[in-house]
Amino acid sequence: MSKKILVLPGDGIGPEIVAEAVKVLEAVDRRFNMGLVIDHGLVGGSAYDATGFPLPEDSLNKALAADAILLGAVGGPKWDKLEDRSKRPEQGLLDIRKNLGLFGNLRPAILYPQLADASTLKPEVVSGLDILIVRELTGGIYFGQPRGVRTLENGEREGYNTYVYNESEIRRIGRVAFESAMKRNKKLCSVDKANVLEVTVLWREIMEEMSKDYPEVELSHMYVDNAAMQLVRAPKQFDVLVTGNMFGDILSDAAAMLTGSIGMLPSASLDKNNKGMYEPCHGSAPDIAGQGLANPLATILSVAMMLRYSLDQGVAADAIEAAVSKVLDQGLRTGDIFSEGMTRVSTSEMGEAVLAAL
Ligand code: NAD
Repeated sequence: MSKKILVLPGDGIGPEIVAEAVKVLEAVDRRFNMGLVIDHGLVGGSAYDATGFPLPEDSLNKALAADAILLGAVGGPKWDKLEDRSKRPEQGLLDIRKNLGLFGNLRPAILYPQLADASTLKPEVVSGLDILIVRELTGGIYFGQPRGVRTLENGEREGYNTYVYNESEIRRIGRVAFESAMKRNKKLCSVDKANVLEVTVLWREIMEEMSKDYPEVELSHMYVDNAAMQLVRAPKQFDVLVTGNMFGDILSDAAAMLTGSIGMLPSASLDKNNKGMYEPCHGSAPDIAGQGLANPLATILSVAMMLRYSLDQGVAADAIEAAVSKVLDQGLRTGDIFSEGMTRVSTSEMGEAVLAAL
């Protein structure tokens, strides 16, 4: 049966980078005879402008029916002042993740050797870097109840959130992490704060229990403060890292910057059946939107992840990744990864170059 792909370009640079990624997806669809059915929808601020909702019902229904979703980015200053938080662009993303049960966020941080100079760290620390952060995405303190700001008896205000994970939530993200480690170098580091937070004492216990089912995977544990330090001190010691929502949010951004440009990094958010939403790690970059300056490679590499994880098309995914490596070899660079002696190209020129390399 033909697979359905929903494309949600979103806001800011979203439409520009997604247009290039869709050309690449269509090209591999033809070449590998996949018979994909590609549909489009609105999300984020542009959806709010058109319909009054950041995730219109039509987009949610199409997302529920799709086998995989390709998303650009959402948000921008135009919508930052919306009083009703439920109408903010970011809510559209949170709603898709929640409604589709996309609990497993995979964020690879790979430093292409051609871009070793783009990192702020010394080349010997980062060159050859290839790590995968597995972040729990629909639980933890970002979703825990009760939450809010209340006024105490003495009139002082107090903000509060709840950090909660139940056993099944920990197990299902643990499974994604162990399975990912099995496909890589079989090293898994679980990041917690078990010296202070009971919820992560349970997290650590369950990871230990699960490791019995994966005897080939070498499991280690690290407190999040140390993990942050080790990521910038000696990031190549890691293969796969698994952690909760908030720690993962922070560590994955730090890991992203090890590679020099956030414009190179794809991500996947998966449900329990490997249906997924694929998007670049960066935001909508309103500062450069509409100028042809955005790097489309993170979105193109997100298409490769989609082919590998949701569509079982590993060969096509490899072909896209090889094409990206080839254009970097040719010295083609968008502004964010530009360095002396390279050829500066626009968003669409970069997309065309990847197509040609395919
Ligand atoms: P951002 O990632 O959009 O931009 C940070 C910096 O990186 C900017 O200087 C931008 O120009 C640059 N940049 C980002 N992507 C690039 C690309 N592909 N090519 C070249 N340069 C690129 O983060 P921000 O500025 O903090 O946020 C802007 C908006 O994006 C906000 O409204 C924020 O809420 C939203 N946001 C959305 C997502 C998402 O859709 N998943 C994620 C993060 C931020």
